[in-house]
Amino acid sequence: MLYKLSSITFFLILFFSNYQVLPSGFVYPNSHFQDTSIVEKYGNLSVSGTHIVDQNGNTVSLRGMSLFWSQFMGRFYNADCVKWLKDDWKCTVVRAAMGIESGGYLEYPQVEINKVRTVIDACINAGIYVIVDWHDHNAQNHQSQAIEFFKQIAQLYGNYPNIIYEIYNEPTQVSWANVVKPYSIAVIDSIRKIDPDNLILVGSPTWSQDVDVASLNPIDRTNIAYTLHFYAATHKQPLRNKGVTAMNNGIALFVSEWGTCEATGSGVLDYAEVETWLNFMETHKISWCNWSVCDKNETSAALKPGADSNGVWPSSILSPSGILVRDKTIFYNDSTTTDVGSTDQPNNFQLYQNYPNPFNPSTTIEYKLANSGNVKIDVYDMRGCKINTLVNNFQSSGKHLVSWNGKSDTGQSIASGVYFLNLSFQNYNQYKKAILIN
Ligand code: MG
Repeated sequence: MLYKLSSITFFLILFFSNYQVLPSGFVYPNSHFQDTSIVEKYGNLSVSGTHIVDQNGNTVSLRGMSLFWSQFMGRFYNADCVKWLKDDWKCTVVRAAMGIESGGYLEYPQVEINKVRTVIDACINAGIYVIVDWHDHNAQNHQSQAIEFFKQIAQLYGNYPNIIYEIYNEPTQVSWANVVKPYSIAVIDSIRKIDPDNLILVGSPTWSQDVDVASLNPIDRTNIAYTLHFYAATHKQPLRNKGVTAMNNGIALFVSEWGTCEATGSGVLDYAEVETWLNFMETHKISWCNWSVCDKNETSAALKPGADSNGVWPSSILSPSGILVRDKTIFYNDSTTTDVGSTDQPNNFQLYQNYPNPFNPSTTIEYKLANSGNVKIDVYDMRGCKINTLVNNFQSSGKHLVSWNGKSDTGQSIASGVYFLNLSFQNYNQYKKAILIN
C-alpha cells in the first residue's frame, strides 16, 4: 500500500503540476519547463573557464538551427519560422547568418539588417537565444562595416540576455595573430563600449577549425568563446583532437555551424560520424547550431525544395538531414514528453514506446526490424552515462521484445527518474524515454 500511494502521488505530481514541483532524484539538466522559457531559466550567459554558464553559474548547452545565408534564403527569416523551430524542433538557439558579400549586407545593408532584426525580435518573443552572425569569409576587409553593424545591434539589443554576437563566421587560410585576432579585438572593443557583457563568438583560420592555434594566443577579453565548425563526412577525429587541445589550453568552444554531410554542404550524410560528434559535444558541454534551415537541393538543407517559409513542416517535407537533426534537438532539449522525435526512419526499423511507462519494477520494449542485422539497445541516464545494455547481437527481421528490470548491468537498483532507451541499427539510432518510479 505504501508503494502504491507513493507511486500515485508521484504520477499526479508529474502530470498535473506543470513540472514545477518534482520529487528529489528527478533531474532535468539542459531542459526548459513548460511555462518557463529557456532564456528566463538561464538568463545572461557568460564564459567560465572552458564552459558557457548560465546566470547561476551552471554549465549549459544550447542546441538549435542556423538559418542559411540571409541574401539567398531570406524568406525563412520570419517570426513564424522561428516559432516553429522553438515549438516543434525544441531549438533553444537560432542563428541568423547575415550574408555580407555576394549581394548581402555590403550592397543592401538596410535590407539585410531588417531580416536579422526580424529574427532577433522573434527569438526574444519566443524566449530563445539568437546568434547574430557576420557571415563573411573576408571580414578583415570589412572591419569598419562590421563595427558599424554590431554597434547598432548592441545599442538596440545589448540589454537582452538572448543576444549572442558572432563577429566572423569563417576566416579562410589567413593568419590568426596578424589578421583574425586584431580584427576580433577591434570589433569586440566596439561592442563592449555599448554592451559590456553578452557572449561574443570569434572565428579562427581555416573555416573556424584552427581553435588550437587561437588557444595558444587567446583574446584577452571576457565572455569570449571560439567557434569550431565541422561537416561530419569530411572533418573527423583530427578536428576533434584540435578541439580538445584548445579546451586543454583553456578556451571555450561553441559549434555555431555543423553539417551532417561533406564540407561542400552536400554529398553523403554520415550518420555514424554525426553520432560521434554529438557525443563529443555532449561530453564537453559544447553548444551547437546545425546548418541549415533552407530548401536548397543539397544534403545539409533541412528541408526539401518547396518547403513553406513559415514552418509547420510535416515530416514529408523534411530532408533526411532535417529528420535526423530535428530528432536530435528534441532528444537533447525537450524533457516534457516521452515521445522523442519523429517516427520517420531512413532505415528499416522502429522502436516503440516501452510499456508500462512510468514503470516499476520492469518494463517491456518492443521493436521491429525490416531486415536482419546487428542490434544494440542501451539504457542511458540523463547525464548520458550508460546504465545497462539490454540487446547486443545479430537478429532476424520481424518483431522483438526485451524487458528491462530497472536495474544497472551489475544488477544494482537505480534512482527514480528519466532514462533513455537507445536502439542502434545500421548506423542509425532511435530513442525513447522510460520513467522509473521506485
Ligand atoms: Mg548585455
